Amino acid sequence: MNKKIWLSSPHMSGKEQFYIKEAFEANWVAPLGPNVNGFENELEAYLGRDMNVAALASGTSALHLGLILLGVKNGDEVICQSKTFSASANPITYLGAIPIFVDSEKDTWNLCPEQLELAVKDRISKGKKPKAIIAVHLYGMPYKVDEIREVADKYEIPILEDSAESLGSTYKGVKCGTFGDIAILSFNGNKIITTSGGGALVTNSKAVKDKAVFLSTQARDNAPHYQHSEIGYNYRMSNIVAGIGRGQMTILDNHVKQRRLNHMFYMNAFDGIEEIRFLEEPSQMYSNRWLTTIQLPSYSIREGLREFLLKDNIESRPLWKPMHLQPIFKDSPAFINGISEDLFKKGLCLPSGSNLTEDDLNRVILGIKTYFTKC
Ligand SMILES: *Cc1c(COP(=O)(O)O)cnc(C)c1O
Repeated sequence: MNKKIWLSSPHMSGKEQFYIKEAFEANWVAPLGPNVNGFENELEAYLGRDMNVAALASGTSALHLGLILLGVKNGDEVICQSKTFSASANPITYLGAIPIFVDSEKDTWNLCPEQLELAVKDRISKGKKPKAIIAVHLYGMPYKVDEIREVADKYEIPILEDSAESLGSTYKGVKCGTFGDIAILSFNGNKIITTSGGGALVTNSKAVKDKAVFLSTQARDNAPHYQHSEIGYNYRMSNIVAGIGRGQMTILDNHVKQRRLNHMFYMNAFDGIEEIRFLEEPSQMYSNRWLTTIQLPSYSIREGLREFLLKDNIESRPLWKPMHLQPIFKDSPAFINGISEDLFKKGLCLPSGSNLTEDDLNRVILGIKTYFTKC
């Protein structure tokens, strides 16, 4: 059997263990310490725009706290991009709130501004103004930041920006993760940089960051004994995990460069195959190309290709199944134009890790070319 080629696997810089060793030597083995502060400072410097970053246990916990900080409560409605990973939507239900799903547009595959406005108007007409809008830069491609912001501002609804897949992407030259009223990042094992598991909440307000840190460390009042006036969470990032993050920050730009090169490599290789279409980068947008995605003519061709690659131990994955089609969310209101469902049926994510070798890429390309000459 040929060596396994993964969709997206962790890629270490070699510096991670230095920070971990330092933490062990100083006995900072806790959900606080110099690596946590260091990692936050490095992320703040990277994002720019005077952002404040709170390092947390995961992107999911960051979304949960983000919704709490935006004032979402039991029974409220929250709009969420339907084409996303389930972690964007699940935290809505943790709060007893109701997700309202909205479909995508064709240019970026992210939240459609027209459908969004339809959804907002409809909910308002039913006496339920949505409390927040969760917009996602899926696969690293920025959503239509200006258009979404315009709708959000018109109806005065805050945006929770899910930037879990888009660290290093930019819109009009500005980093993704700085556009929402609150934004989140993820450092899970398959993301552009990883801490093994981890995430962050991003805000332009120091007070909001402090509140996020307070809630993530069990909401302890300022007292010598343990005292609590609010419900807290155990969501802070540990100092060991943050050490991995500091090592990863030293090669983030390289990872973006490498993933974009993967995308170019695939584009050039499939130039003559008209069944394969790529998502182009709209002007003013720069994607980290976290995953290279392709669209195929039909479901059966897509599945045929996926299984063909799997026989050669190459992992690929259908584009994310929209939330409005998930069994768990089948009863949620949804504003649908068919785009995300079509992408789900015909789209495929190709191996995209920054640690893929030229041999790996050539094996994937040969596999795909063979499939299309055979079929
Ligand atoms: C990975 C991911 C998350 C969740 O992040 P975790 O760190 O795994 O909890 C949320 N949203 C999107 C779009 C993701 O890809």
